[in-house]
Amino acid sequence: PDLRDLLLSRIRDVPDYPRPGVVFKDITPLLADPAAFGALIDALAALCARHGADKIVGLEARGFILAAPAAAKAEIGFVPIRKAGKLPGATLSQAYELEYGTAEIEVHPEAFAPGDRVLVIDDVLATGGTAEASLSLIRRAGAEVAGVAVLLELAFLDGRSRLTPALAGAPLEAL
Ligand code: IMP
Repeated sequence: PDLRDLLLSRIRDVPDYPRPGVVFKDITPLLADPAAFGALIDALAALCARHGADKIVGLEARGFILAAPAAAKAEIGFVPIRKAGKLPGATLSQAYELEYGTAEIEVHPEAFAPGDRVLVIDDVLATGGTAEASLSLIRRAGAEVAGVAVLLELAFLDGRSRLTPALAGAPLEAL
């Protein structure tokens, strides 16, 4: 509860971004506060241990900011899932539906050892589409899903329901 209050106090609402009528949750004040950012990274690293993760995946772009230091702290490897066209090697790709149109994300499949347990980290769970697509990529690469951890869940969009089948019993943690 204390961590939750600290984190929430450092997330700023920006109205009408990126479009009129949308209230964007801005995490940059949290990143600029070493007490809050440090507590967040410690909590994410603790989730890795609790769920037996062997690797952390970060989702581009804000997911990278949280996932990379959490992986270093947990002493496990970090793997980026990137938007299409950004990774240099051979990739697996997964397309998914957005509110308007589609998006595509990619991973280097050899980043995982067979059976690796992978924790996915992102800043915000909105509709759940990005996280859902990331779980497909991880399984297609031969790894297992240890869970999904986000800083903030926008519960009114009910991404949790969309993500539940893909989680297949793995936890969704919202700090
Ligand atoms: P989803 O696929 O609809 O769950 O959208 C999640 C993705 O959009 C995440 O990678 C987030 O970084 C980003 N996102 C959506 N809404 C917000 C927001 O209010 N603040 C920050 N990122 C957001």
